[in-house]
Amino acid sequence: MAGGTALVLLLQQGLVQPGHVVGLRDVAELQGGARRLDHGGLQIGALTTHREAERASAVADYCPALADTFSRVATVRIRNQATVGGNLAHADPAQDPPPMLIALGGSARVASSSGTRTIPLDEFFVDYFETALRPGEVLLSADLPALAAGTRVTYKKFLPRTQDDYATVSVAAALRVGDDGRCAEIRVALGAAATTPVRARHVEDALRGQVLSPEAIKEAAALVRDEVDPLDDLRGSAGYKREMARVWTQRALQELWDGAT
Ligand SMILES: Cc1cc2nc3c(=O)[nH]c(=O)nc-3n(C[C@H](O)[C@H](O)[C@H](O)COP(=O)(O)OP(=O)(O)OC[C@H]3O[C@@H](n4cnc5c(N)ncnc54)[C@H](O)[C@@H]3O)c2cc1C
Repeated sequence: MAGGTALVLLLQQGLVQPGHVVGLRDVAELQGGARRLDHGGLQIGALTTHREAERASAVADYCPALADTFSRVATVRIRNQATVGGNLAHADPAQDPPPMLIALGGSARVASSSGTRTIPLDEFFVDYFETALRPGEVLLSADLPALAAGTRVTYKKFLPRTQDDYATVSVAAALRVGDDGRCAEIRVALGAAATTPVRARHVEDALRGQVLSPEAIKEAAALVRDEVDPLDDLRGSAGYKREMARVWTQRALQELWDGAT
């Protein structure tokens, strides 16, 4: 248990019944807050709370949209307790940080008694509330690569109900336009749009290397419909969320393109 905001609810509902619960709070290797790495990247220790991440100068300095994403998680009360590592390990597909960390090209650094390994975050979420963590492994940190100069990043959280709700659909996108005016780098990831966060590779492939325009963005965003596989729930039908995935992907990409030109 890290912050306990997810695990305690699962215990109360009888969905998990562990023989023992091990508190992680005092494990030195999982601390660290957020710090810039020598090569320009960012490392966020697993026990960093969302509130700490939201307010850390290292995070804002690396990417203001990432700090904004942490600030969109639930309420201050939850963010003061819930950890970034617990969020990733819990793997609720509607959570906010995972799509953004995927769009930034992040990876999970994990450890067990047999050593450490790194898992790209776009391979970390394997199914509904299921990750690539093996028994006996703990998450040490989320590691992010240096962002190329001129990379623009945004996070769109569609919240038709209340401001502190989970997303109905969310979109994180990172875009860099090259000196030749073409899309040099693009990464798009969605939350609450399937049983795991979704990397929208068809959208990316349609735009990479292209001269962007509102029409090109509209056509590429429409491809996201076939990449998502939303669940019907109290936030909307699968069909509605599929359409909202298209709308918010288009808005996110248009915003980045507008800012880059
Ligand atoms: C009312 C409410 C509203 C919420 N709203 C949002 C929201 O809007 N957006 C959003 O993104 N999230 C939301 N959440 C989810 C919240 O972000 C997660 O519950 C939280 O991040 C989990 O972190 P924790 O430290 O509390 O994890 P814990 O509850 O301690 O643990 C969760 C799981 O992760 C495992 N775990 C924890 N740390 C590690 C580690 N270092 N290595 C390996 N496994 C580990 C635990 O064993 C457990 O299985 C909400 C939660 C609540 C209760």
